[in-house]
Amino acid sequence: MLVVMEKNASDKDVDHVCEVITQMGYQARPMPGQQRIAIGVVGNRNPVEQSRLLGLPGVKEAIPVSKPYKLVSREFKSTDTIVELPNGAMIGGPHACLIGGPCSVESKEQVTEVAEVVAKAGGRILRGGAYKPRTSPYAFQGHGHDALRMMSEAAKQFGLATVSEAINESTAEEVAEYIDIIQIGARNMQNYALLKKVGSMTKPVMLKRGMAATIEEWLLAAEYILDAGNTQVILCERGIRSFDKTTRNVLDIAAIPLVQGLSHLPVVADPSHGTGVREMVVPMAKAAMAAGAHGVIVETHPRPEVALSDGHQALLPEAFIALGKAMEAAAMVGGRRLQHSQNRAN
Ligand code: PEP
Ligand code: MN
Repeated sequence: MLVVMEKNASDKDVDHVCEVITQMGYQARPMPGQQRIAIGVVGNRNPVEQSRLLGLPGVKEAIPVSKPYKLVSREFKSTDTIVELPNGAMIGGPHACLIGGPCSVESKEQVTEVAEVVAKAGGRILRGGAYKPRTSPYAFQGHGHDALRMMSEAAKQFGLATVSEAINESTAEEVAEYIDIIQIGARNMQNYALLKKVGSMTKPVMLKRGMAATIEEWLLAAEYILDAGNTQVILCERGIRSFDKTTRNVLDIAAIPLVQGLSHLPVVADPSHGTGVREMVVPMAKAAMAAGAHGVIVETHPRPEVALSDGHQALLPEAFIALGKAMEAAAMVGGRRLQHSQNRAN
């Protein structure tokens, strides 16, 4: 249920409605809008009795919300959420940007070299794994704390914001200390303790879709983060499992406009993990942008043949820079404006 207040409703009216909602055994979530305040009612298992709320001073209407997820839904908030980063980059609404970097941060030299490439391509955010959730326990697990530090320094040199994955509650704290966006990986999409943890933090979160997650499960995972208090969530479509092994995953491009219709949260796409095939990364990045994605997150490495993870899907620097050039037109097709770094090579 969403209680929409009159334009001229006072703070006292809003407080009173919140009190009544609490008395009814639910939780009240006031959401200030440009014109008026709406108050979300969450925590109900059965339909909420409208009549008690409709008669209260300042209440305009009460709209039932049919979806199991509430706070992330368009019904609760019709305007797009825009996530703004310390370097001025924005994701959401009309704004899109290019995110790039290595799968794993391997050394200071490697991450600095890649940061320069990302900036040259017009990218605004550097990606890089410090804590890697690998399928095999024998695969490279990431350089951890040192990687976060190296990545943050490299990004600063080129005016980039940063995104890196946290794999549990303690690494979430560590990532937040150095990095601008905390990534929750596909394998952790339903790690509810981790979702609650990043929900209690103030840094933006990039929530990847689980490899076999339905749209509803994905949005409910995002709901955990908003319910814990953090509204700065970016959704990332990164491909889902199929019976066909030709590609690593199937990038669900239809999920981009679908989720944008269901939710106010920004949606980016990851064509690197979505395909797992270098040659397919650029066409799928363009397709995602043309479908209205708020950006793409793409792996690039100066020497993919010696990369410690995911070299097979990493773009070479020249290809990444060429993608940067093609992004503007692709974003325009999807109705978004691409943001550039000032360092972009012409
Ligand atoms: C990654 O971004 O490097 C990664 C491991 O992605 P995902 O969680 O989508 O597999
Ligand atoms: Mn990877």
